[in-house]
Amino acid sequence: MKALITISGRVQGVGFRPFIYRLASKKGLKGYVRNRNGIVEVLIEGSEKEILSFLEELKIEKPPSAIIQEVKVEYLTGKEEFKDFKIELSPLEKVFSGSIAPADLSICDECIRELMDPKNRRFNYFFITCTNCGPRFTIIKDLPYDRANTTMNKFVMCEECEKEYKNPLDRRFHAQTIACWKCGPKAYLTESNGEIISVENPIVEAGKLIEEGFILAVKGNGGFHIATSTLNSKPIIKLRRVKHRSQKPFAIMARSIEAITSFAEVSSKEVELLTSPAKPIVLLKKSENYYLAEEISPGLNTVGVMLPYTGLHLMLFKEVKEPAFVMTSANPPNQPIAITNQEAIEKFKGIVDYYLFHNRDIAQRCDDSVVKVVDGELSFLRRSRGYAPEPIKIRKVGKCVLGVGAELNVTSCIILKDKAFLTQHIGDVENLETLNFLEEATRNLIKLTKSEIDGIACDLHPTFNTTRFALRLSEEMNIPVFKIQHHHAHIAKLMAEYDLDEIVGIACDGFGYGIDGSAWGGEILYCFGKEFKRLGYLEKHLMIGGDLATKYPLRMVAGILKDEENFEEWFLSKANHLPHGKIEAEIILKEARKKHFPETSSCGRLLDAVSAILGLCYERTYEGEPAMKLEAAAEGGKNVLNLPLNFKGNIIETKNLVREVFHLVNKENIKNIAYSTQEYIAKSLAEFAAFEAENLNVKFIGFSGGVAANEHITQTIRKIVESKGLKFLYPRKVPCGDGGISLGQAYIASQML
Ligand code: ZN
Ligand code: ZN
Ligand code: FE
Repeated sequence: MKALITISGRVQGVGFRPFIYRLASKKGLKGYVRNRNGIVEVLIEGSEKEILSFLEELKIEKPPSAIIQEVKVEYLTGKEEFKDFKIELSPLEKVFSGSIAPADLSICDECIRELMDPKNRRFNYFFITCTNCGPRFTIIKDLPYDRANTTMNKFVMCEECEKEYKNPLDRRFHAQTIACWKCGPKAYLTESNGEIISVENPIVEAGKLIEEGFILAVKGNGGFHIATSTLNSKPIIKLRRVKHRSQKPFAIMARSIEAITSFAEVSSKEVELLTSPAKPIVLLKKSENYYLAEEISPGLNTVGVMLPYTGLHLMLFKEVKEPAFVMTSANPPNQPIAITNQEAIEKFKGIVDYYLFHNRDIAQRCDDSVVKVVDGELSFLRRSRGYAPEPIKIRKVGKCVLGVGAELNVTSCIILKDKAFLTQHIGDVENLETLNFLEEATRNLIKLTKSEIDGIACDLHPTFNTTRFALRLSEEMNIPVFKIQHHHAHIAKLMAEYDLDEIVGIACDGFGYGIDGSAWGGEILYCFGKEFKRLGYLEKHLMIGGDLATKYPLRMVAGILKDEENFEEWFLSKANHLPHGKIEAEIILKEARKKHFPETSSCGRLLDAVSAILGLCYERTYEGEPAMKLEAAAEGGKNVLNLPLNFKGNIIETKNLVREVFHLVNKENIKNIAYSTQEYIAKSLAEFAAFEAENLNVKFIGFSGGVAANEHITQTIRKIVESKGLKFLYPRKVPCGDGGISLGQAYIASQML
């Protein structure tokens, strides 16, 4: 009997062909296996029983980092023609449109064992990898994924490595990243001026220096990290000062799950994410006996933790006792993560004490991914290393469209048939450096996927850099551009992910440009096909001083409470929290009467205002800070508000809420007020949306936008929606915030084309 089997999913660059080879050989089957157009094709000849057991074992024993999406079997007629089983290598393998470049994979258990085994020839070799593990996307210059197309191309394999590479029974058969002490990349430690320090093992030495409280720049797979101790506040405070980063949390890398449980709470879902081949940063709740430096994530109840994902990281911990190191992306303010040794020496002058370099080039800069468990499931805050640029499955579209994102947390996205390819995390595209990075990453994605773009989608905002970028590309490629409203795109993500024709969506974030030109951010939208209708929104509030009200939430408070009794007195008492003190406070109060400032329906700004009233945050030094500190403060709280929900026409009133908070602030526990605020906003949004959905006879209610990262708000909305017999949807494959908006943009534009 003869069968042609095609296997799709993550099946290339993960050791799938040698696995098939071993399985088929073990069973005495004949035929071949080869890569074809992003899938693996197997032809086997044998008895029916043998073929069936082959298919069964294929699914159970697949390589650990492979993901099988679909197995198609076609039984063929004709004579049996093969004498043995072969891996068919097609050096000139054609790359088709929709090809998949594999994402980076964390070091596998078998390689860890070899790394730690003094008898192994790769003992202590920091770039140990195999067909199941190692960098992929970050070293790939072009497809097909072959050593010559990667930055490993300048390292010529030694005899022993070559033998392994050519042996189908070896676990490094065709491992493009194969390397050893003899032939692979080398690591070296330098002084802050770049002068090499001669030591036996530079990585182990670097680990000791980190433990001693020095600050090091460490070159990794997708860029540099800045590393220092987690137990010692001093270097962290210094790092904050020199990086001009007073509050934004630093990610840490812990040596093991065991170490993590000593300072954070970890659920089984979180363990699963921490140890998955992507090894993302997972936001974990600090445990009661949290003992790491408070300066790592000041004012928050969470800490972002990842596990070592390369041999180099494991070696750093080899001779130290610290449970974890600070490991933050090494990027100058508002610039992309540094990738070249030269760049690092120039940009981190005066910041770091030592450098740990290696001599392999980074082809694609790629930050660590950041995830959080929200309502029991994965929620992406940043989808990057370990995930990008592998596609996600979406509702099938007819046209190939590129979405370029908004302004913050930008990614771009290509949708092609039933796949969406998102770039790695780009960052806030507010200057030339990040715009260049967006352009590079986008062009690289087009190249890797061999896409022929039919149209481009961008934000409706007329002056975003991404909008200008889209217009420029559309001219260059001579294709149309579509401007998609921000919150419409937030909800369209859900339509693409869950294959929906219509949905009532709750889109809550900090800011998005509305179709009337005003600032939106607390929207209930009915989305159907390529259209949407604004059903309702959060009550608008004045932004005194315009954008300054985003940076200093006390300005939002003044706009909302200006007519409240005793307010002026209270406000003046907070004047020391404004950059110019009393004079500024007095001007704000005067200006609040004039009303010539823009208004916003933003949910983020509303949460910010409450955060400032409660004294949790007076200045936003990073995106979402006041709202995140409110979420942290609400932990363990209970509802103490006795306030009816207030709807006036299509407006969800919130001024009453802020007024209540203001009057409760000295009478009630802050924790309970914070909790009640979130609860009230969530209930208002959910009840309003559910009412509209029932009227429209729509069965689905979705929640998206940056505020959806708030677990309490998400859970409350979900419970209300489900209690009404409606289905609740949440973005699980792309970030709920602006990092996923490029998908929504592209999806709507493809419907318009
Ligand atoms: Zn491995
Ligand atoms: Zn070698
Ligand atoms: Fe947004």
